[in-house]
Amino acid sequence: FLEGKRALVTGSTSGIGLAIARALAGEGARVVLNGFGDEDEIAKLCEELGATHSGADLTDVAQVGAMMEQAGEIDILVNNAGMQHVAPVEEFPVDKWNLILALNLSAAFHTTRLAVPSMKKKGWGRIINTASAHSKVASPFKGAYNAAKHGLDGFTKTIALELAEHGVTANCISPGYVWTPLVENQIPDTMKARGMTRDEVINDVLLVKQATKKFVQPEEIGALAVFLCRDEMQNVNGANWSIDGGWTAE
Ligand code: NAD
Repeated sequence: FLEGKRALVTGSTSGIGLAIARALAGEGARVVLNGFGDEDEIAKLCEELGATHSGADLTDVAQVGAMMEQAGEIDILVNNAGMQHVAPVEEFPVDKWNLILALNLSAAFHTTRLAVPSMKKKGWGRIINTASAHSKVASPFKGAYNAAKHGLDGFTKTIALELAEHGVTANCISPGYVWTPLVENQIPDTMKARGMTRDEVINDVLLVKQATKKFVQPEEIGALAVFLCRDEMQNVNGANWSIDGGWTAE
């Protein structure tokens, strides 16, 4: 049902973004991928999905602008690229703080401000922001990430209000823990910050609040993103959809 629509999914060479890109392409959308990775693997992905790719580093405002120009008029904008760093606040590296705010929050502002004019002109658009359970609740040692994701929720609500009369919706999807490189890579630092073993981090930190005791699968996020693109979802606007196995219900 997305034939004729063009979707840009940031951070879609891996994990959740790739699953969202696959799901949108599966419904007929023409997809623009973004993110880093092995050139051959990205070329294979482009072939598989009939997609194009931008390698723009979204922490650099000029590169966001170039990507948006290359992508053309976007109907479905998925702001998904994100990174994590785990450290106590007094040791939190300043450069990591700045990078995380730039990628997890400011990049969504820059893509949105550049995508909105054509959405308004067409009277149809979907902006879907991958936030996190950490846009609703906090965990220790993730100051930059939690601040950025709470900020992303606030930004999403704001644009939802601004665009409501233009056929454009803006919503967050907020996953709990999804088994992707982003989660796997934070295990060593969490072991250090909390003085725990790998298994303790998985069971006593990552899955402790996820009532299902299971990781969410990237494909489940892809399905939710597709659902939000349906015309029947035109009144779902400014919402922050949890997909966290019950974590934030407690
Ligand atoms: P991932 O590490 O698997 O993928 C991140 C993607 O972002 C990759 O394609 C990477 O190349 C790209 N990327 C990284 N830095 C970039 C930059 N500077 N410019 C452009 N692209 C860049 O991570 P993931 O787990 O799939 O996370 C995707 C999103 O989901 C993030 O916003 C993350 O915060 C959010 N999220 C993840 C989880 C989880 O448990 N994995 C939970 C909640 C929210």
